[in-house]
This record gives sequence, C-alpha cells and structure tokens, in this order.
Amino acid sequence: MTRPWTIRYWLEQLAPHEYYNSTLDIDPAELAARGVRGLILDLDNTLAPWKHGVPTTELAEWIESVQQAGIRCHIVSNHVGRRVRLFSRSLGIKGTPNARKPAGRAFRAAMRLMGTVPRDTVVIGDQIFTDILGGRRQGCHTILVVPACSMDLGWTRLVRRIERAVFREMQVRGLVAAEPRRRDRR
Ligand SMILES: [Mg+2]
Repeated sequence: MTRPWTIRYWLEQLAPHEYYNSTLDIDPAELAARGVRGLILDLDNTLAPWKHGVPTTELAEWIESVQQAGIRCHIVSNHVGRRVRLFSRSLGIKGTPNARKPAGRAFRAAMRLMGTVPRDTVVIGDQIFTDILGGRRQGCHTILVVPACSMDLGWTRLVRRIERAVFREMQVRGLVAAEPRRRDRR
C-alpha cells in the first residue's frame, strides 16, 4: 500500500477506474456482464453539454439500452432542480438536483432508490473532484468521461484547469489510461 503522505497516495484516491471518450461509448452489455446493476450519472457535460436543454435521441437510446440490460439509472447533479427534472423526465429516470457532490448523501440516496449497493454501482462523470472522488468515497466503481463541451461556467472553468493538471499527473504515473476508450458506434 502507498504511504498516505505521498502525492501518489492522493492521486490514487482520485483516479477514475476507467476513462472513456464519451458516456455513449460505454457498452451497457459489458457493464451488465460485469454484474453492474445501477448507474449514477452526472448531468452536465456527462449526459449533455451544459448548455443543451434537451437530451439527444442518441442519449435516449443509450439510456434505453442500459435499462434493457437490466441496469437502473439515476442522475445525481450539482445543478439546480429545473434542468435535472427536465432531463430525468424526458429520459424516464429519476434524478437528484443540488447534490453537493463529492458529498456522499445524494450518492447513497440514489443507491437506496435503485436498490443497489456500492459493489454493483458505477458512477459516471466528467469531473474528478466531484464525480470521481464522490463515487470512490462510497466504494463505487468510477468512470471518467471526456467533457461533452469544453466551455464551462467561471468556477468550473477554474476547477477544470486544476483537474487537468492532476489528471495529467495521473497519466504520467500510469494510474489512468493515456487515451480514453472508444466504441465503434454506427
Ligand atoms: Mg459534469
């Protein structure tokens, strides 16, 4: 085990288990085969660019195939209620706004509602300090995705610069893949 006072130790605590080019590149059948039963999904820049008001057909189809694979979905977002409601309603899944990630409460509530436990729950998000850290603290498997849009609001933009530096360091140390995984989509 790595010593708790080293940089490597802290990078290990923050490192996503997997790294994908996009949420849509994640294969629901592969998750199901691994025993995954629930997905906790970030909204902004994970399911849609933060400015997009409605889910795309592609996303709706992906959610559908996740559910057909026997996996439940729950949106956990730090965004306000209206946008989260709009997305969760049109996708036919539940959602929790104002989640205050990386705090654990919303993650635990989502698992309770899905009837899952950390062992069979995967957290998918585009931010290390909220989605990945929050998911890891609950003991969930975590997947980082490349942000759907490179433009962010002021505060997020600053955090993202720090995240990028941290992420590069993880890659240099071999804690995450150098390139995100992609899937052949037609
Ligand atoms: Mg996000």
